Amino acid sequence: MNSYHKEQSDALEMVQRYLAGISVPERKKLEAEVSDYLLFRDEVGFFLSTHFSEVCTQKCYQSKLSACCSREGIITFFGEFVVDALVSQEKEIKVLLSVLKKPNEGFKCVYLGENGCMWKVKPIVCEMFLCEQAKKDVFGLNPGAAQVWEELKKRKKLYTWPDRTVLFDTLENYFLNAGYLSPLMYMHNSPGLLRVKRRAQVV
Ligand code: SF4
Repeated sequence: MNSYHKEQSDALEMVQRYLAGISVPERKKLEAEVSDYLLFRDEVGFFLSTHFSEVCTQKCYQSKLSACCSREGIITFFGEFVVDALVSQEKEIKVLLSVLKKPNEGFKCVYLGENGCMWKVKPIVCEMFLCEQAKKDVFGLNPGAAQVWEELKKRKKLYTWPDRTVLFDTLENYFLNAGYLSPLMYMHNSPGLLRVKRRAQVV
């Protein structure tokens, strides 16, 4: 297991362990906390399947290129493990943990399985990545869709960009207050994001 796999695996195990030990009302509180983000993700998913499903299937999956999943070490915020664990069944978490325990000998992301991404709510950086060619193909013919996409990108920041109170920061705080620590808590350890917070006087 390399250090990337270990950090990912530790974060997921930590979240799983914590969620297994909390009361039903506490879990409901966390579920309520992430519900708006999940609605946002549904909207993004709907947009992508409406406008990009065909072009991505042809250009990437059928050619086995899957360019957007072809590297190791994608950015995953700690909060994303919380979101994914809240909506996943235990067996789905086990699948993620088991791939992290195996060495990744391929050139693709460790989470890319035969049926696509193994996350239930894949990392936001992956979900909102569109390659230049796909954008050109789709937005060139449909400028209205390009506008909607820009709006969705702005809304993404409401959960991820800590110039205000955002979900990913709130989830890190929640776990920090419970005594957990992870290098994937970027809202608390990324110099760039800390600068954003300082500038916005959030810290
Ligand atoms: S996490 Fe999922 S969507 Fe992101 S690169 Fe890996 S397989 Fe692809």
